[in-house]
Amino acid sequence: MTSGGASYMGRFAPSPTGPLHAGSLVAALASWLDARAHDGRWLVRIEDIDTPRCVPGADTLILQQLAACGLRPDAPPLYQSQRGAAYQAALDALIGRQLAYPCACTRQDIAQALAQAGQPKPRHGELVYPGTCRHGLHGRPARAWRFLTQDTEQNQPPAHVGHGDTAIDLIANENVRWLDRRLGAQQQNVTRAVGDFVLKRADGLWAYQLAVVVDDGAQGITDIVRGEDLADNTARQILLQRALGLPTPRYLHLPLVLGEDGDKLSKQNGAQALDVGAPLAALNSAAQVLGLQVAAAESLADWLAQAVQQWAELYTPVKSVP
Ligand code: GLU
Repeated sequence: MTSGGASYMGRFAPSPTGPLHAGSLVAALASWLDARAHDGRWLVRIEDIDTPRCVPGADTLILQQLAACGLRPDAPPLYQSQRGAAYQAALDALIGRQLAYPCACTRQDIAQALAQAGQPKPRHGELVYPGTCRHGLHGRPARAWRFLTQDTEQNQPPAHVGHGDTAIDLIANENVRWLDRRLGAQQQNVTRAVGDFVLKRADGLWAYQLAVVVDDGAQGITDIVRGEDLADNTARQILLQRALGLPTPRYLHLPLVLGEDGDKLSKQNGAQALDVGAPLAALNSAAQVLGLQVAAAESLADWLAQAVQQWAELYTPVKSVP
């Protein structure tokens, strides 16, 4: 199934923590190719909410590097740092529907509660939140806001939420299921895998999950094409979409470029800033990761046109994903 014509809206959503490198170019190129192969539109969103991790000027550099590769967004980029009011409105809506609650727990509190429950093992270094503050703060000061996930088998609904509540029925999420265009059928029980996750952090910053869902909704994103390392967030994002009454986009998670240590390529394990003087070399490496082999091209425009053609054969329609 391909989305028809102008109804396709794609995006590349870099965090400006440094320049574009071989790994991030794969996500940029693939999201652009998918948009073009669907005659769709392609947006760039600068995800600069985690301010301590942002590098001044990295946003401009990324946009220049994209332009050097012929990847130009169809509208001016959206900056998440300017979207606080929209995130607050979404949090307020969730609070109003009793789907968000304040949390007083420190990391240490969570680790202790898990150890007491006989579940000390962290998952990807992250602790599964045991739901301590679902039943109130008990006089402790609120630090963060969390999303109320529901596992009807494992957890009793919190005291303040009645049975038969429509919002709760809506998100009763035994298993969130979705179809990834490359990875196939996926599912996750968010309560068990992650727990009630953070919407607004203890340091006052907006959490990635909330910001990304609010912005994908506001920008009318129909297709999310991004690295496979982000696939694990999808179930959380689908729950938030449902809770906020937003449509769920299609998802395509891409193979990752690995660094010298076998982890996802990043600044920390040897990623070099993309060489804007040699865009075709960089694009060819990115294309290879995506399973494309573009023959010698006369120009950047010719290279991109060939790549769009190949992408359309390989990655659309959805059913013929390799
Ligand atoms: N800003 C995220 C990152 O750079 C990507 C978010 C997304 O594509 O959903 O890893």
